[in-house]
Amino acid sequence: SRKIVIKIGSNVLSDDNGAVNREVLHNIVEQVSNLIEHHKQVIMVSSGAGICGVGAINKWSRRGDMNYKQALCAIGQVELMMAYKEYFSDYGIHVGQILLTREDFLDPHRTLNIRNALFTLVDEGVVPIINENDSVSVDEIKIGDNDTLGAHAAKLWNADALIVLSDINGVYDKDPKAEADARLIEEVPDIDRLLADIDIGEKSSFGTGGIATKIEAARLVNQYGIAMILLNGKKPDIINKAWNGKETGTVFSGR
Ligand code: ADP
Repeated sequence: SRKIVIKIGSNVLSDDNGAVNREVLHNIVEQVSNLIEHHKQVIMVSSGAGICGVGAINKWSRRGDMNYKQALCAIGQVELMMAYKEYFSDYGIHVGQILLTREDFLDPHRTLNIRNALFTLVDEGVVPIINENDSVSVDEIKIGDNDTLGAHAAKLWNADALIVLSDINGVYDKDPKAEADARLIEEVPDIDRLLADIDIGEKSSFGTGGIATKIEAARLVNQYGIAMILLNGKKPDIINKAWNGKETGTVFSGR
């Protein structure tokens, strides 16, 4: 597979203090640069704007307030992109920011424009970094989580694979953070059967999708013959290690 969409969850980029984990971010950039050096094409979908916003202004008090959350994302999006730009520049790679909402995927004309923009950026050796346009995304027009956004991007770009980086090793039969004896499921050929077999915990604190949206993202891309691989993005060099069989995750092969 040559065309890879890599989605990075907010839990991957945040450390325990609610600030952005620069070491993890740096390592992911290193991994992406390495893939590009090996003739892969990469589009990134990155969460973490909210966390970066909190880190930037050191306030987190009104995070339940939607407009305040939008403000945090507006501030943090700049911080996040600055970090990506800084780290990618070590490899001579430019980044391009693309902020989308659900409407962009509903209107064929807009969708076509995004598609062309993505192809053009990648052709120029640029790494597009996509995120939801949170400051204009009120609930009614929201995609709502970047797993779904990543799946739409993968479909739009005719990707070969969607890699979802989260803070767990993969899909388990129950929430691994709550249950010590949770068992990792390494291969998912049938999503309906998976859903009948496992327990899904609650949404994470920053309002992202949890494991449910990751499974639905897999369902979406699998329909288009695109594999999805769920890996632990907090582990250094996880993509390479998974590729070489030194680490495992969950592969949604789709049949
Ligand atoms: P991200 O920020 O990476 O998108 P989320 O917090 O939205 O991550 O979703 C991942 C979380 O889903 C995990 O940290 C885990 O606690 C939870 N979860 C609940 N049920 C399961 C399950 N069956 N398998 C794996 N993770 C699960």
